[in-house]
Amino acid sequence: MAVKEGGVVVPRLNMVIGAFTRASLPIFFTRDWHPPNHMSFMGQGGTWPPHCVKETPGAEFHPKLRVPQGAVVVSKGTEADREAYSGFQGTDLEKRIKATKAREVFLGGLATDYCVKETALDALDAGLKVKVLEDCIRGVNLRENDSGLALREVVARGAELVTSSDAVRLVARVREFHSKPRRPRLR
Ligand SMILES: [Zn+2]
Repeated sequence: MAVKEGGVVVPRLNMVIGAFTRASLPIFFTRDWHPPNHMSFMGQGGTWPPHCVKETPGAEFHPKLRVPQGAVVVSKGTEADREAYSGFQGTDLEKRIKATKAREVFLGGLATDYCVKETALDALDAGLKVKVLEDCIRGVNLRENDSGLALREVVARGAELVTSSDAVRLVARVREFHSKPRRPRLR
């Protein structure tokens, strides 16, 4: 299922993924991984054309997306009778993030008005700080301003909007912090 201009987020996400990789920070990929009779498909009375059917090309990551070796891939929407817009829904994503001691997540991908929004809200509910990468997301916009409304809602709930360049700068600072030799304080 195509999201209009969805491909434009890939190089920007790759930049952020690169920065996280260099800083040895954990990266999680979530994906729809539906059975062929998933309830969200129009043939089953759902909203969407069939998409992301597990083990088919439609469920693969974008060929240009940089998925580092050993990255954690979390599949969602794997049960025929359950929808999962959020990467946290019916998965062990929260447990896996918390196992890394991360307190903050940077979030990008598709689509703003469904999976990005619900994943951001669940991350906030899990007690994480959330930064949505505003230039690394694109919406479906079944109604004209769905993406705008989604972003307004996640910000009202406490998420922050940042750009991919902001993220790279912030992550570089984490690197410096970790690589600085500890010196005794003079005062
Ligand atoms: Zn889906």
